Amino acid sequence: MNAEIIAIGSELLTPDRVDTNSLYLTQKLNEAGFEVRLKTVVGDNREDIQGLLRAALQRSRLIVLCGGLGPTEDDLTRVATAQALGRRLTLNGEVLEGLQRRFAVRGYTMAKINERQAEVIEGAEVLANPAGTAPGMWIEANGAALVLLPGPPRELKAMFEAAVFPRAARMAGGRSMATRTIGIQGWTESEVDTRIAPIYTSFSEVQTTILAVKGVILLRMQQWVGPGEIPSQLDDLAGRIQAALSDTIYSTSGEALESVVGSMLRKSGRSLALAESCTGGMIGAAITRVPGSSEYFRGGIVCYSNEVKISQCRVPPALLERHGAVSAEVAEALALGVRQALGSSIGLAVTGIAGPGGGTDPKPVGLVYVGVADECRCVISRRILPGDRETVRELAATIALGRLRGFLMSENARA
Ligand code: ATP
Ligand code: MG
Repeated sequence: MNAEIIAIGSELLTPDRVDTNSLYLTQKLNEAGFEVRLKTVVGDNREDIQGLLRAALQRSRLIVLCGGLGPTEDDLTRVATAQALGRRLTLNGEVLEGLQRRFAVRGYTMAKINERQAEVIEGAEVLANPAGTAPGMWIEANGAALVLLPGPPRELKAMFEAAVFPRAARMAGGRSMATRTIGIQGWTESEVDTRIAPIYTSFSEVQTTILAVKGVILLRMQQWVGPGEIPSQLDDLAGRIQAALSDTIYSTSGEALESVVGSMLRKSGRSLALAESCTGGMIGAAITRVPGSSEYFRGGIVCYSNEVKISQCRVPPALLERHGAVSAEVAEALALGVRQALGSSIGLAVTGIAGPGGGTDPKPVGLVYVGVADECRCVISRRILPGDRETVRELAATIALGRLRGFLMSENARA
C-alpha cells in the first residue's frame, strides 16, 4: 500500500533546518505496512500545499502531513487541507476546552490566536497531543486517509506512536516490512559488493542496499511479509551473507562498532587507554557514547604535540627525531606508553596526517598508523586514507576501533 509524506514549513527550505520528521515517519510507516513512494518539502504557501494535496489524493492511500498546525498566520495546514478537500473548518468546543485547560494549568490565559488550533476539519477524527497544544487529525476521503501531525519532532512522535500507528497498521491489514542490518568493517563498498552481489541478486523478494558511512559498510536488507508470515528469504540471505563475509561482520543487529568493541572488552575483563593524535579525541567520544563504558575505559590522552607524546605518553624523544611523529615506531611507542601511563590492559594509539597541509612524498596526506598493545604484543597497521581533513579523521577513528576489534578477536582465538 502506498504512502506519501508532505513536510510543511518554509524553514525547511532554508539551509538552517532539515526535515528529519520524514525519516522517522518512513521507518514507522514501513513497520506499519506501507511503502513510502514520495516525500515532499513545501513552504508555508496555501496554493502550493493545496496543489500537492490534490495530486497526493490521486496517487496515495495514506498521506501524512507534518508541520504548520500552530496558531500563527504562517500555520496553514488546517486551512489548506480543508480547502483541498472542499470541507468546512469549524471550531470544536471540546478541543477548545482542552486547550484552555492546558493553559490554565500552567497559570496562563489562552490568547485568542490559539483558538485556531481548536478548528477541526469536517469529518476528521481528532488526535490528542499529549506533548503539546496543537491536536492532530485523521481524515478519510476518496478512499484515502490523510493525517495531520504537528511539526515539533517530540510531539509528532508521541502522537504517531499513540494514535497513528495502530490506525495505519489496521489499514494495511497486518502487512509489515521486516529488516536486517549487517555492519561490516575492514573492506570497501566494492569489495563487499563483489563478494555478495552473486548471493543477494538471487533473492527476488529481498531488497538489499549497501551504504558506506564513516568507515563502515551497512548492508540493509528488507522484505515485505503478510500477517503472521516469517521473512524466510531474509533470514536465509542474512545467513548466507554472514557465511561469506565472516570476520569482517561486526554486528548483525544494527549495533555500533564502539558498542561491539565495548562488549568484547567487558566480557574479557580488560581495560582500554587511548593515545590520540590526528583524531583529537574522536575515538574517546565514540567509546564513551556507549552507556556503561566506564567499566572498561580508563581514559585517553590527546597527544597532538611532540611534547605531550613524550611527557604524557612516554615516547622516547630519539624515536620522534629519527622516525617522525607519523611512523610505525611512534605508533607502537604511543600504544605501549599510554597503556603504562594510564594503567590499562590495552593501549590503542593513532597518529597520522589529516591534511590539507603537511604531506610529503614519503608521508602523504591521509597516512595513518594505528597501534594496539597489551602486555605481550603490539600490532601496528598502516593505511593511506582518502578524503578531506574531516573524512581522514573519521576514517582513522573507525579503523582504530576496527583494529582493536581484530586484536581482541585474535586474543580470544589464542585463549
Ligand atoms: P507549533 O505549534 O510549534 O508552531 P507546528 O505544527 O506549527 O507547531 P511548525 O511551526 O511547522 O509546527 O514547526 C515547529 C518546529 O518543529 C520547527 O521550528 C522545527 O524546528 C520543527 N519541525 C517542523 N517540521 C519539521 C520537520 N519536518 N523535521 C524536523 N523538524 C521539524
Ligand atoms: Mg508553527
